[in-house]
Amino acid sequence: MSRIYFDHNATNPIAPEVLAAMMPYLTEQYGNASSIHAFGQTAREAVEQARVSVAALLNARSADIMFTSGGTESINHAILGAVSAAPGKSKHIITSAIEHVAGLDPCKALSKSGIELTILPVDREGLVSPEDVLRALRPETVLITIMLANNETGTVEPIAEIGQIAREKGILLHTDAVQAAGKIPIDVEKLGVDLLSISAHKFSGPKGIGALYIRKGTHLFSLMYGGHSERDRRPGTEDVAAIAGMGRASKLVQTIFARESERIRVLRNRLEQGLLARVPNCWVNGAGAPRVPNTSNITFPFIEGEAMVIALDLKGIACSTGAACSSGAVEPSHVLMALGLAPEDARATLRLSLGRQNTEAEVDFALEIIPQVIERLRKLSPTYKNPAIA
Ligand code: PLP
Repeated sequence: MSRIYFDHNATNPIAPEVLAAMMPYLTEQYGNASSIHAFGQTAREAVEQARVSVAALLNARSADIMFTSGGTESINHAILGAVSAAPGKSKHIITSAIEHVAGLDPCKALSKSGIELTILPVDREGLVSPEDVLRALRPETVLITIMLANNETGTVEPIAEIGQIAREKGILLHTDAVQAAGKIPIDVEKLGVDLLSISAHKFSGPKGIGALYIRKGTHLFSLMYGGHSERDRRPGTEDVAAIAGMGRASKLVQTIFARESERIRVLRNRLEQGLLARVPNCWVNGAGAPRVPNTSNITFPFIEGEAMVIALDLKGIACSTGAACSSGAVEPSHVLMALGLAPEDARATLRLSLGRQNTEAEVDFALEIIPQVIERLRKLSPTYKNPAIA
């Protein structure tokens, strides 16, 4: 059975060009980038070249890019490092209800240790209001952290407007751009951010490597101590192969960006419109907001998302649901709940996220299979059979 992958927001395959760029550093070029001999210098050169490519993707200075182990570390470093370094005894931070747990959990951990935390709501489409940000500001606010693109719905948040507010008030702004990189243009100047997190495996690079943009002059404490790499900000021997891969992936998405994102948008819209036309009683979450081109988040009431994911996997289609297994129980997505969905509707949601290798034929196959699977599962659903509810 040929398998169709519609789960690119979870992770992406490494592009062949990226793997080729990594191979020398996994084989003959094994030097430590901190060594002064020729092996070390070759490795150092690869790291610095990659830094230039990552910076170019963000319209940033290469000196302002710090390599990390991925999105989670970048976001934790930005939030924990900025709040620890901020002066003053009483401190306040602002975030949103739809952040990835990599951003929400460090904020919640800080709030347990006495930092004041405001979690802003979103509207029905999943958008944070810049006016709400303005209203939430306090004299002791030290950081605003709001994501650029949401991983579940794909909605793009008004970060440039929030950036303007943050600049006027002199407050640091971090954005989690993990799901934006490679999907929409990112410009740290236009966004007005001081800190921005990205992760290579979301745009055809390897897993376990990411970057944090740190605007010059931003005061951050380190999370780890033990060496001088990354300008004394992040110790440890650099993973040169992964860094070279991230650099190559950054270049790649820049060159193919306009063409590919439009092609993927057309495919996503074909899939979305086709499902809305073929399946009764379903809707797209976040459809009224600006969205990244590859993501579709659709609620099919009366079905458990997990059951849909398993049934579709058996037919060869990989996607994910709006629910996560936590402590053995299936919890509805906090993102969809923040949009105002009932828990049972949040659980009845599929996330289909497309990528570079998807084709029109795959979309058309999915348009045949998904409606059949939904019809079959709905027939088995006791609530759907009940006409009073249905
Ligand atoms: N932020 C968002 C929006 C994400 O979607 C993810 C991963 O799914 C992360 C952060 C975490 O990134 P990483 O997997 O590189 O740690």
